[in-house]
Amino acid sequence: MFAEWIGDARPMMGTEVSVYLWSDDPEAGRRALEEVFSEAARIDRLMSTYKDESEISKINRGAAIEPVAAGEELFRLIQRSLDISVLTRGAFDITYDSVGQHYDFRARQRPGQEVVESERAFIDYRLVLLDRAAGTVSFAKEGVRINLGGIAKGYVVERGVDVLRRLDVEHAIVTAGGDSRLLGDRRGRPWMVGIRDPREDDKVAISLPLADEAISTSGDYERFFDEDGVRYHHIIRPSTGEPASGVHSATVIGPDAVITDALSTSVFVLGVHEGLTLIGALPDYESIVIDAAGQVFFSDGLTPPEARSGD
Ligand code: ADP
Ligand code: MG
Repeated sequence: MFAEWIGDARPMMGTEVSVYLWSDDPEAGRRALEEVFSEAARIDRLMSTYKDESEISKINRGAAIEPVAAGEELFRLIQRSLDISVLTRGAFDITYDSVGQHYDFRARQRPGQEVVESERAFIDYRLVLLDRAAGTVSFAKEGVRINLGGIAKGYVVERGVDVLRRLDVEHAIVTAGGDSRLLGDRRGRPWMVGIRDPREDDKVAISLPLADEAISTSGDYERFFDEDGVRYHHIIRPSTGEPASGVHSATVIGPDAVITDALSTSVFVLGVHEGLTLIGALPDYESIVIDAAGQVFFSDGLTPPEARSGD
C-alpha cells in the first residue's frame, strides 16, 4: 500500500465532472472517486430538465395546475435559489428558463423577438410558491418553468466534497464545469486554481492560491454561438430575457460552492459595478470580474496578485 494522488474526469451534466484526491490507500481512493461520481449522477437525475422523469421535470409539468410534492433535497435547493433571487434583486432567477428553453446552442438556435417578449412575462421568482409544511412547489401561472442550471453544479461539488470528507479524505478538488470545491490544501501548499482567459481557450488569465474554499466562474464562452457580431450565450438577464452583456466572466470565491455558483451567475448579470457592490456586502465572498474590454476588476477583499509584494 502506498499513498498517491489519483483522479478521474467524466462527461456529466452537459459538462465535465472531475475529482482529484490524495489517498493513503489507492483502492479506497478509487472507491471514493466512484462515490463522488455516483453522487453527481444521483443529483443530475433529480435536477436535470433534460430528463422527463426527473423531479424538476415533474414540477415543470404540473406545478401550474396543482402543488407538486418535491423531495426535501430539491425543495431546499429551490428555497435557496429563491433566497438568492431576493439577495440579488432578481439577477439570479431560476424561472429564466421560460426563455432559456428556447435556446439550442449546438444548433445555433435562439428565440425570436416575439417569443422573448411573450415568455419574459413568466420570468419572476415570485411566481414560484413553496409550501414548507406540505413540501410542495406550485407556480402562480401557466407558462412558468424552473431550471437549476445556475446552482446545481455548485451543489454537486459541495456534496461531492461532503462524500469525500465522510470517507476521511483530507486533500481533494472536485470540479463540475466552472465550479470547484477544494477540500484542504495540496498537502502543505495551496491549490493553484486558474481563471481562464474568456477569449483564449487554453490561456489562464489569473491563478489563485486557495485552500478549503469554493470557486465558481460563469462565462459567456461555456455555451454560445456568435451571430452577426453578437454573442448569444447561456446566461440570461431576467429583466430583458436576453443574454447578459457587458461581462466576459465573473468569478466568485467563498466557503460554499452552492453560493459561489449562484453568485457567479448573479455577478455576471449585474455587471462590474453592481456585482462587486453586492459581493462587497458579503464578508465571506470575493469576486473577480473580467469585462467585455478584457479589463479585470477585483472585489475589495482581494489584492490584485500583481500588486502583492514578495510574490
Ligand atoms: P456554467 O458553469 O454552466 O457556466 P453558470 O453558473 O454560469 O454555469 O450558470 C449558467 C447557467 O445558469 C445557464 O446554463 C442556465 O442554466 C442558468 N441561468 C442562466 N441565466 C440565469 C439567471 N439569470 N439566473 C439563474 N440561472 C440562470
Ligand atoms: Mg453559476
